[in-house]
Amino acid sequence: MPSVLVVEDDQFVRSALIRHLTEASHTVRSVGTALEALREVAHFRFDVVVLDLGLPDLDGAEALKMLRSITDVPVIIATARDDEAEIVRLLNDGADDYLTKPFSVEHLSARMAAVLRRTRGAGAGAPPPRVLQVGGLSIDPLRRQAELDGTALDLTRREFDLLAFLAGRPGVVVPRRELLAEVWKQSYGDDQTIDVHLSWLRRKLGETAARPRYLHTLRGVGVKLEPPATAPGQPA
Ligand code: CA
Repeated sequence: MPSVLVVEDDQFVRSALIRHLTEASHTVRSVGTALEALREVAHFRFDVVVLDLGLPDLDGAEALKMLRSITDVPVIIATARDDEAEIVRLLNDGADDYLTKPFSVEHLSARMAAVLRRTRGAGAGAPPPRVLQVGGLSIDPLRRQAELDGTALDLTRREFDLLAFLAGRPGVVVPRRELLAEVWKQSYGDDQTIDVHLSWLRRKLGETAARPRYLHTLRGVGVKLEPPATAPGQPA
């Protein structure tokens, strides 16, 4: 559960951020001045700090510099000033990312996730991000992104879940019942549901049921995902 320090003097923005971050299962502490923020980071460990630049006591650049002098916690700057030169300067001064106000909570969450990935990935002994690779298909369950031969696939949530589940068991025939239970979270259902999603997924992978490359349906048994017999550019 990532812990976040929100440094924001606007009470309205602050309580909205606290509410949304808490809902997203973050541990949140918040303060309204730069000096309080310095005290917080000196006493507690945070995974990320969201720092408003327009604070009542210290100039944002000053606040960032002082934060940096005592901690290397990732800092995301929140600024109302869309001033490119200033943002570049702050990034050079140790900010990890920035958001221009007003920003959506989704936007903040995405930036935070990216910063956390970078900082955690850089840590010694951190597990490498687990990307599933099947032939030319690469599936990143954390980022929920899939690529085929380096080109991003535009998948619906269900299509992605289906592909990721199968890619976790390459070459294994997965019974339909198991797909329903694991991907659809249903104990029973219509086979057509699976067939329809499979056919959409096939189309996006550029193949057909008659000429499958990755997705193979075994009638009456189940479905399996495996690399094509002869992947392009690779020996058979
Ligand atoms: Ca402010």
